[in-house]
Amino acid sequence: MPDATGDSVSVRCCIAGGGPAGIMLGLLLARAGVSVLVLEKHADFLRDFRGDTIHPSTLDVMHELGLLDDVLRLPHQEVRELRAQLGEVALPIADFTHLPTRCRFLALMPQWDFLNLLVERATTRYPAFHRRMRAEVTELLQEGRRVVGVLATTPNGPLKVHANLVVAADGRHSIVREKAGLRVKALGAPMDVLWFRLSRTPGDPTATMGRFDVGQIFITINRGEYWQCGYVIPKGTVDEIRQRGLLAFRKAVARLVPYVSDRTHELRDWDDVKLLTVCVDRLSQWYRPGLLCIGDAAHAMSPIGGVGINLAIQDAVAAANILAAPLRDGRPTLDQLRRVQKRRELPTRITQWLQVTIQRRLITPVLAGARPLKPPLAVRLLARFALLRRIPARLVGIGIRPEHVRAPLAPAETARHHAG
Ligand SMILES: Cc1cc2nc3c(=O)[nH]c(=O)nc-3n(C[C@H](O)[C@H](O)[C@H](O)COP(=O)(O)OP(=O)(O)OC[C@H]3O[C@@H](n4cnc5c(N)ncnc54)[C@H](O)[C@@H]3O)c2cc1C
Repeated sequence: MPDATGDSVSVRCCIAGGGPAGIMLGLLLARAGVSVLVLEKHADFLRDFRGDTIHPSTLDVMHELGLLDDVLRLPHQEVRELRAQLGEVALPIADFTHLPTRCRFLALMPQWDFLNLLVERATTRYPAFHRRMRAEVTELLQEGRRVVGVLATTPNGPLKVHANLVVAADGRHSIVREKAGLRVKALGAPMDVLWFRLSRTPGDPTATMGRFDVGQIFITINRGEYWQCGYVIPKGTVDEIRQRGLLAFRKAVARLVPYVSDRTHELRDWDDVKLLTVCVDRLSQWYRPGLLCIGDAAHAMSPIGGVGINLAIQDAVAAANILAAPLRDGRPTLDQLRRVQKRRELPTRITQWLQVTIQRRLITPVLAGARPLKPPLAVRLLARFALLRRIPARLVGIGIRPEHVRAPLAPAETARHHAG
């Protein structure tokens, strides 16, 4: 650990939160020779499903880092097409096979496998990379208006981290942004999602699918040996559903997806069903002197399109591209922090606008029980013209303004790179 004395440590950049945004930024900065410490409050990355999608634009970033083969060696599934079932009609809506990316599919893999790989590579390759698990950021250290570090609780007692830049990558309930007094604008969401697993058997269909029926939306993601199921419910109704009992819930699932009706007993109690409280929000300003927010801490996304992880990673790449050199030399200016927001705000706004429009036009009426359930014109056109299916594939798979790794390599890395 650089410049550590007892319960105090000094680094160029301290990142609160070891999710996709924090770990990716940590790796990229350390690769550029910037001493970085990632503080993660949990002991490991082993949390059940919180999004397992690795998008084609993220896979391009992995390629640029020389990690694509390692990532694809991890057990994963590859999704090349998305389908929607409206009432009795199943329709293709997105085709990833024509994307101008190295991998023309969404890779599905447990998020902890992905994060463990990044941490392992960062730790073994880049001496400037440090992380502390079970280190929960609780306070900001400030000098006047400037953030100069954080205070964290660890099993060994409090830890003070002094840093030229603190990055909040601590997710949608970010304590860091709250302590910094940054204003959050909520855009609203009409739904929550109950996530659970049911096993897959050889006779099951293969497609990853969203089903829309009167008052019901159900997502089935093919994970090889099991289905990752998402039951979309009107916001705030989870208690009502729980009160009706697990048996009623199992029956509802069986009605919607008849081929899993022989397996709904695998839901033994409500612990097997995880609630995602959907929120869509973003900060008006992502930075303050000495502080920058990225990923969910800057903007929580709707689960539509499953783009939260990709956006978090794209934020990290943009932040490293803009800030690695200033951090290597000292302290980024306010203007450089503003440039990160300027670069990433447009993709965030457009994506959230699309998500909120889909929520309003499709999700809200379906959950309210609108009938008859006729595919909207846009969906009918997608089903009819294969060429059009490349548009949602591009929006989901690549997103708006994909980022590429441009942050400089540390001098030792440059030598290794040329030698190799
Ligand atoms: C149930 C569920 C399903 C989802 N499904 C998808 C999906 O299919 N596809 C998709 O793209 N996205 C999905 N998402 C959203 C996705 O998880 C996020 O958009 C993405 O992980 C954001 O990355 P992040 O690094 O910004 O934040 P997070 O992944 O939330 O990481 C934040 C990290 O900070 C840590 N932390 C929090 N507070 C502190 C603190 N005070 N000190 C230290 N560490 C702290 C947390 O433990 C966590 O590890 C899902 C989310 C949930 C909850």
